[in-house]
Amino acid sequence: MNGTEYHRLLGIGESAFESLEDHLEERNYDGLEYRHVPDYRRGVERGTVLIDGEVVRGFPKVPRTLVLSDGIPERFSTVADRIAVEEKLNGYNVRIARIDGEELAFSRSGMVCPFTTRIIERLVDLEPLFETHPEAMVCGEMIGPENPYTAHDYPEVDSLAFRAFDWRDRESGDPLPVEERRERYERFEIPQTRLFGSYEIETAADEVREIVETLDDDGREGVVMKSPEGVDQLKYTTSAANQDDLEFAFSLPFDYGQAFMFRRLIREGFQAVEWNESDAVARERAHELGEAILLSMRETIETVDDGEVVGERHTVRASPETVDVLFEHLRGQGLQLEIEADRREDGDRVCTFLKRTQSTTDKTRNYLEGHVVQE
Ligand code: ATP
Ligand code: MG
Repeated sequence: MNGTEYHRLLGIGESAFESLEDHLEERNYDGLEYRHVPDYRRGVERGTVLIDGEVVRGFPKVPRTLVLSDGIPERFSTVADRIAVEEKLNGYNVRIARIDGEELAFSRSGMVCPFTTRIIERLVDLEPLFETHPEAMVCGEMIGPENPYTAHDYPEVDSLAFRAFDWRDRESGDPLPVEERRERYERFEIPQTRLFGSYEIETAADEVREIVETLDDDGREGVVMKSPEGVDQLKYTTSAANQDDLEFAFSLPFDYGQAFMFRRLIREGFQAVEWNESDAVARERAHELGEAILLSMRETIETVDDGEVVGERHTVRASPETVDVLFEHLRGQGLQLEIEADRREDGDRVCTFLKRTQSTTDKTRNYLEGHVVQE
């Protein structure tokens, strides 16, 4: 298909499409050439894919509020009187679409993920859904400890699971209203993220705060609030999630952007104020924050001091073929992998590997060797 037709599908002008084309990344999945929008640009969602004459829209960026009481009305009062509050799950985003008869799983940035494309079949049967709604884009989170991208423990997930949180038109990116989406997924027996309820905007902040406190106690990530039409979204996270992220980032301090850490620290500040914490409670938060930062950093420095390398550790459990294509895919993206454990279980290959993060290993070693800094 040529650019002229794609620009029509995307709903943008010809010249806008031409300038977008320079920024498209070209890839190949199983002999199928495709292009995607790898980063944020105006006009077209990041993660949008042009494949086989079809468009698969990116999943929109979800804005965040640092303060519930003012953020909720600010975001929603002009578009709705109520909001639906769903759980925000901590895993990795996936969109599944049927292209030329084949169900493909796309990453946030619009790459076909060969691992997810294969493993999803085990987790959910999307066949009946795509038979009835071939234009659907099934959006959800892959959660659980055994995956190659974002591992987080959920007591209800042993290895890996899929939870739907959105249903959009593949081409336009328009979502279904929340209620309709939930009914449809229920009908197709697709597991979904939890819905806490629907609340009036005026009183929502108090309700959401209570929900977030419970989620925080359970070490869960947070909530995504949505207008009933599903168009407007807003996220808010627990302190547990902020601190987990900080712990992780400070375990690889020279590989994670400083902005990543700074933003999470700021969130803690605003939450402490909005929740009107007593000195004692704020001190406890400060203590936990300090532990998240320092203890993880200390462990990394000690690991490097022992002559080992550091990185992101993941475990995957899948067929040997799936693990092979995953490693090929990750290496193809320039990642250096170190296989730490590799065994067979019930026909599956269960593999623990490290994505080496070179900057942290190198810089830490330099500092340990007494490298003097001008600061
Ligand atoms: P972005 O904000 O651009 O989506 P991010 O990496 O900053 O990217 P998060 O902070 O994790 O993302 O928040 C948004 C993501 O949360 C979504 O992309 C989606 O993968 C995930 N998510 C989990 N649960 C939900 C839910 N119930 N509704 C919508 N998104 C959800
Ligand atoms: Mg996330």
